[in-house]
Amino acid sequence: MTSTLQTHLAAPPDHDSGVVDPGQLHCPSCREQVRCAPPQGWPDRAGAAPLFSHPDGTVLCLDQAGRINEPVEIRA
Ligand SMILES: [Zn+2]
Repeated sequence: MTSTLQTHLAAPPDHDSGVVDPGQLHCPSCREQVRCAPPQGWPDRAGAAPLFSHPDGTVLCLDQAGRINEPVEIRA
């Protein structure tokens, strides 16, 4: 049986430009700029830490489904 996963993994990123400046990434809920670092004090039992956090080291705000938001690019 062959896997079809590879075609999904090869899908292009959502961003049209393909280039995202980390300095333009913000939390979509509070509009705080995010840093490219895991939240401080993330417990091991919670699984893999998010790649981004608020500037003060807290987890990004949750979306309406209770999931941690993905940062969005907001150009000044
Ligand atoms: Zn936030």
